[in-house]
Amino acid sequence: MSDALDSLRRELAQISDLATAARVLEWDQLVMMPAGGAPARAENLAGLHRLAHELFVRDEIGALLDDLAPLQADLDPESDDACLIEVTRRDWEKATRVPAALTADLSKLSSEGMEAWARAREEDDYESFRPWLDRTLELKLRYIDCFPATGEPYDVLLDDFERGMRTHEVRTVFDRLKPALRELLAAAPDDEAEPFLDGPYPREAQHELSLAVARAFGAQEMHFRLDPTVHPFCLSFATQDVRLTTRYAEDDLHGNSVFSTMHEVGHGLYEHGGDPALDRTPLATGCSSALHESQSRLWENVIGRSLPFWRWFYPRFQAGFPEALRDVPLERFHRAINRTQPSLIRVDADETTYGLHIILRFELEQELLSGSLTTADLPEAWNAKLEELLGIRPPSDRLGCLQDVHWAGGMFGYFPTYQLGNVLSVQIWERLQAELPDAYEQVERGEFEAIHEWLRERLYRHGRRFTPAETIERVADGPIDPEPYLRYLREKNASLAPA
Ligand code: ZN
Repeated sequence: MSDALDSLRRELAQISDLATAARVLEWDQLVMMPAGGAPARAENLAGLHRLAHELFVRDEIGALLDDLAPLQADLDPESDDACLIEVTRRDWEKATRVPAALTADLSKLSSEGMEAWARAREEDDYESFRPWLDRTLELKLRYIDCFPATGEPYDVLLDDFERGMRTHEVRTVFDRLKPALRELLAAAPDDEAEPFLDGPYPREAQHELSLAVARAFGAQEMHFRLDPTVHPFCLSFATQDVRLTTRYAEDDLHGNSVFSTMHEVGHGLYEHGGDPALDRTPLATGCSSALHESQSRLWENVIGRSLPFWRWFYPRFQAGFPEALRDVPLERFHRAINRTQPSLIRVDADETTYGLHIILRFELEQELLSGSLTTADLPEAWNAKLEELLGIRPPSDRLGCLQDVHWAGGMFGYFPTYQLGNVLSVQIWERLQAELPDAYEQVERGEFEAIHEWLRERLYRHGRRFTPAETIERVADGPIDPEPYLRYLREKNASLAPA
């Protein structure tokens, strides 16, 4: 290995160690820390993030990258070394375009904005949050100005989560989905809510069943923990140390921890499946937000809400919750967990309406950035658009434009990746089924090894080696395409229709 490459790897490992330490503190904050630790923890995290950022944007890193340019030209472009140099160069060029003062302002505003948002949501007081939203938009526009124009200002924000993807590409996918999803919603039967949705679902049984599913999917005890939290998430400290979290609703089947566990296991398997040789480098994580979400949704929905899965797991699940489910046949249960109906809250939405919640946010955040919508008019614009898309109107801002934390934390450009993940999950599953034609039969037998191995080989092991577009091409044999997802929803909804 060249001296310069050795030095670069050493520098990146040190920066990665700081980022890992910050993740351990974040996990602890959300899983273990007593509430009183919050102010000190915020300082610790800000300090570690600042240090990691300062180490990364140094001129020395740029000089090492310049020294390595001739070597990179000689390397196989798919080799670990070539990918490391390429990805580091792109990250470094992006990070150094933003003045240190703006980076610091954005980071400070993000934590303050989230606090202001939490209070405003609690009190259903949008006006108290509006100054923070205005300030966030102002800083985001300054951030956009740090980069060369690519066509649309939103491109810059999207690029933070889906490197290289353009706004018009997302719009093409969403323009196809919007009318099709509304049609599917209109055709959905108007079922009565099932009484067994309200439980009881005792917490102990939820925990035991969640662990059983996590282990069956491939999250072994040696490398994964599962702990309770308020808003479930997954963090990895290394490919061999992955932390999953879940929550336990005892009176709502949709909030049963089995579903949130399957979701987080999907994220966790992606992180765990990375080649261990990539640990302590910028390549050692999932490729993009949409690809990450494609894996949580593949395990949670495409597998975890399928009839084959429940043919295998339902007897055990039913035995865990005899009071709620004793007299509920499998088909009725499966229909209830897949019911299509309009709802106010994105995170509670079913597979059909979820995309409409995302399209609403994608359209509104572009209007906010372009100035064609002011923050004063946001609540009304939100409510009107939800009514147009889903036929229902939020009775309060708390159930409307104050429901998500993302804008408060400065995460404009993130929302579309959730729905692109849904689209990709089915596209990847179709590809997998072409090579493992009996995949759903394996699911029905409770066998997941071959599916896990296919995904590891085609997607997980590469981490961030390739761009999202290249990675999608490799795992799905083509660019992002909404048709498999629409086909899947049509077939599923038709199969759920009453006989
Ligand atoms: Zn997720």
